[in-house]
Amino acid sequence: MVAVTCLMTLPLMAAIGWDASRTRLERAAEVRDQAAAVATAAAAAVDQYFASLDAMASVLVRHPAIRALDGDECNRLLAALLVDQPLVANVSLRDRNGVVRAAGAGLVDGRPQQVPAPPHVLEVLATGRPTVTDFAVGQVSGRPTVFQAYPVRGADDSVIGVINFAVNVSRLQQVFESIALPEGSVVTLVDRQSRVLVRSVDGERFIGTAFDERAVEPKDVPRTFTRTGGDGIDRLHANAVVGRGPWLLSVGIPQSVVAAHIAPLWRRDLIVGLSAIGGVLLLVLWPLHHTSRGLEALRSSAQRIAGGDLTPPARGPAPNLEIAQLQDAFVTMATNLREARDALDFQIEQERKMRETLQSLQRQVVRQERLAAVGTLVSGVAHELNNPLQAILGVAELMECREGLGLETLDDVALIKTQGSRAREIIRSLSRFGSHQSGPPALVDLREVITEVIQLRRPNLESSSIALEVDSSCAQKVYANVTEIERVLLNFVVNAQQAIDSTTRPAGRIVIRLSHTGKKVRVEVHDDGPGVPAEYESKLFQPFFTTKSIGQGTGLGLSVSYGIIHSYGGTVGHSGNQWGGATFFFELPVADVPAVESVSV
Ligand code: ADP
Repeated sequence: MVAVTCLMTLPLMAAIGWDASRTRLERAAEVRDQAAAVATAAAAAVDQYFASLDAMASVLVRHPAIRALDGDECNRLLAALLVDQPLVANVSLRDRNGVVRAAGAGLVDGRPQQVPAPPHVLEVLATGRPTVTDFAVGQVSGRPTVFQAYPVRGADDSVIGVINFAVNVSRLQQVFESIALPEGSVVTLVDRQSRVLVRSVDGERFIGTAFDERAVEPKDVPRTFTRTGGDGIDRLHANAVVGRGPWLLSVGIPQSVVAAHIAPLWRRDLIVGLSAIGGVLLLVLWPLHHTSRGLEALRSSAQRIAGGDLTPPARGPAPNLEIAQLQDAFVTMATNLREARDALDFQIEQERKMRETLQSLQRQVVRQERLAAVGTLVSGVAHELNNPLQAILGVAELMECREGLGLETLDDVALIKTQGSRAREIIRSLSRFGSHQSGPPALVDLREVITEVIQLRRPNLESSSIALEVDSSCAQKVYANVTEIERVLLNFVVNAQQAIDSTTRPAGRIVIRLSHTGKKVRVEVHDDGPGVPAEYESKLFQPFFTTKSIGQGTGLGLSVSYGIIHSYGGTVGHSGNQWGGATFFFELPVADVPAVESVSV
């Protein structure tokens, strides 16, 4: 992302580079134009100066003293002329033989020095036309100069002499020096041989040396060029032709001036550019930073959710609308996921409970069917045994009435009767297991049944240090035989006491609870004994199932209770309780609604 942002700044940087290059070219052009303007003006000034010499010469050549080649008069005249013309180093007059007749300077004892006629003088004498020389050295002064010579004509228009001006190159140099130009600039006047005539800086060093070794004609020199001068400085030159020579007038401005002009502009461009890039980076990276922080928070929330923690993430400040929407969608998704998982957990729990209930019901149905089969069998056996037993007891009573029986025989008969009676009781009990009601039912108040049983068992319970609590607020009545219901409840209480007594604990607790659930009245007996082991649960209500020692248990209590309650359309059952003990209960239909045959629990 940072790389993309940097790429975005590329056009900006390219624009800055282009602007810098344009600025450099424009400033260079400005400097070149400035130099060209100076060069043109200076060339014009030089031309103008030589034009003024022409005017002066045209007056001089017509002067009577000059025409007369009058030495003394001409000496005075020419000396006076030099006073007014600082740019003229000397002016001399030669006759048609080239002999010096008069001079403005360089007189010895009032006479001009006699030096041979230089070629340009001979040329003027021969051609009769004015001429100007290139770089030359003064014959008298020995200083660099340029000669401008004019013919002097006699009355017959023939050339009788030459007026020769020696231009003061040093003074011309001073004029060039006074031109206002940037530091390091140089104004150079170059002759046709490309030798330096005048140089505004270091003239003594460069005058007479070659300006350009190629000796190009001044008119062929380009208007501008750059070159490294003899002083080693790179300059940008603008050139103009001085028509008199023709000579070349060149104004050179150092490249460093261009650079100095550009530097502040470049600095300004650089500051503006860097500020713009900084602004762009700030504008892009700041929101980017916040966006990536927002995304990071969402990523860690997604990891947490993937790890199973479906708690919806807290809504934080979002850097922009898109992240806010993403955050909302994420929170909604997490909330929905959690609700879906909760619903799934709830459904799984419900299904588990239903499965358990179903399994329990299946076990109960199997147990019910088995008990029903056993009940049918037991009832049949009891019925078949009852008749022979009645006959045995009847015969025993008849025998008892016979006279003459010995004491021993009477004892045997009494034993037959006792055991027979006992067998009859067992058979009766077995008959009850087979759900045969012992008599017509009547309205029974279960609170009274509970009171009866408590009165019966309280002394016994107290001797075993067992606390008995009763919760019997329900006033609903049932249709049943009160004695039989008492017997069922008594069975439950006695079993509870025996279970508590089987532990090593010194005390125990029994709670009898009477409640009303819908159309049924429910009686529960809770104890804090050891409870019923799982492997015995399926056998509890079978006749003769007992875990007690001989004499203490017959295994008929629960099976008879089952038969009694079932015969009134009720249900009997068992469960564990919070004390780790057992809870036995029975339910009977409420008396004021018709009793419904229900599935035994
Ligand atoms: P008996 O009491 O003569 O053994 P029951 O039919 O009344 O016959 O009881 C059968 C068996 O059920 C008992 O031997 C005992 O193992 C178990 N039982 C009954 N009630 C409880 C109870 N409250 N706590 C633990 N086990 C019990």
